[in-house]
Amino acid sequence: MKGFNFMSNFDYDVIVLGAGPGGYECAIRCAQFGKKTALVEARELGGTCLNRGCIPTKALLHSAEMFENASNAGNCGVTTGEVSFDFARIAEYKDSVVQKLRTGIAGLEKAHGVKVISGFGKAVDNHTLDVDGERMSFDKLILATGSSPARPPIPGIDGENVVTSDEILTMDKLPESFVIIGGGVIGIEFATLFATLGKPVTVIEMMPSILPGVDSDIVRVLSRVLKKKKVNVINNAKVTGINGGETVTVNYELNGQEKTAEGCCCIVSVGRRAMTSGIGLDNLGVEMNRAFVNIDEHCRTNVENIFAIGDITGKIQLAHVASAQGLVAAANACGHDEVIDYDIVPSCIYTSPEIAFVGLSEDKCKAQGIEYKVGSYNVAGNGRAMIMGDALGTAKLIASPDGKLLGAQLMCPRATDMIAELAMVLKLGGSIEDISHTIHPHPTVSESVAEAAHDFEGLCCHALPKKK
Ligand code: FAD
Repeated sequence: MKGFNFMSNFDYDVIVLGAGPGGYECAIRCAQFGKKTALVEARELGGTCLNRGCIPTKALLHSAEMFENASNAGNCGVTTGEVSFDFARIAEYKDSVVQKLRTGIAGLEKAHGVKVISGFGKAVDNHTLDVDGERMSFDKLILATGSSPARPPIPGIDGENVVTSDEILTMDKLPESFVIIGGGVIGIEFATLFATLGKPVTVIEMMPSILPGVDSDIVRVLSRVLKKKKVNVINNAKVTGINGGETVTVNYELNGQEKTAEGCCCIVSVGRRAMTSGIGLDNLGVEMNRAFVNIDEHCRTNVENIFAIGDITGKIQLAHVASAQGLVAAANACGHDEVIDYDIVPSCIYTSPEIAFVGLSEDKCKAQGIEYKVGSYNVAGNGRAMIMGDALGTAKLIASPDGKLLGAQLMCPRATDMIAELAMVLKLGGSIEDISHTIHPHPTVSESVAEAAHDFEGLCCHALPKKK
């Protein structure tokens, strides 16, 4: 399948615009299908995910976790000296991981025969792309330009020390305290990071609860953990203004009263907007769905030879969704027929303990009147979690009364690695019995999932009998 198609009338069979996790994988797959492929990127290979998102945040969280583990090492008999950290070196470590992965992507594109072109691409018509003044023709174009942090029109949003995830991830000096506007995944991961490094954090959330999509019982447990780490979460609060400076003051309204929160740095994390500006969408005649490019289940726009993937489509703004869309778009652009299914998308939150979920939540079942039953296991009883000094959380399976798995919510160490098992069961239309009859390795945190399945069946051995 590999190799270029020299019969084409176009410079490229496929041009992929944007080299985030959606675009770079998509380009490799097009090349694997034998298409002459170019990947155009205005900044760095890897996009938001690698340079300003998933990887740098998780590298920083890893350092914070190491700091916490070293501080608690005495609990398992390990003597350390005074434990401290050097944030400039933590930032260097993060940058070194990003750099290695970026070099890896460049090597992969080259090895697969993808031509990487640096520059800002703008569609001139539906067979021509302009990249910084140089024109090139294409048969198919795949838009993968991603997203950037939203800055809502709050008075003072551009003030001193008021930043978004983009800026905070470039700093090499740690501010002394934080106010985070937005209690979504990004906001709560930053709260976990800075609180673990010992800095006070206030999170201001407009909704009644942080972390939409996570069941309220799990959010309650996490809220207690955050409180212990000196994270002050304020729900139902509407930010009305920000005064930047060495100390940033955030004004908000809570129950009809004006209040303020102060920090040395204010992080605005209230969502992301699609990167559609200046890329020539009008020239293509591509239809929009609000601020996002509208696509069908083939990742095709209304224009036959133009596809779109990733955050620019506004479906689910996650790296693995962008990559999955990229592979579907590549297949369809190369003459195959594939569709994408958004029903089974695992979501991971890198708090401590981690949270991961897939499929229907219990709260959603309740709200939608779906008949369900829950099997759950308290991770406090799990041997491996206890060994790790992290025996807090729950494994919860949501299934129809006759046992067909509908969803799962995990809060435990390594939940983010474990959720893939449950995504697979859902994908295969599996049941509680499939899980309870699968032998889970011992000692692992994954046994909690099997225990939850046993609980669903009323047969959990590692829990006290339920009162009748
Ligand atoms: P992007 O990654 O945004 O890449 C788009 C690329 O296109 C960029 O490199 C951009 O420079 C380029 N581009 C734009 N316009 C042009 C143009 N005209 N010409 C050339 N190039 C152009 N997701 C997860 O799944 N797990 C996580 O843990 C996670 N953590 C996150 C943490 C943070 C702080 C943030 C901000 C995001 C996080 N995400 C996470 C979300 C994830 O980063 C995005 O969903 C993902 O990067 C989207 O991929 P994409 O390919 O659509 O676009």
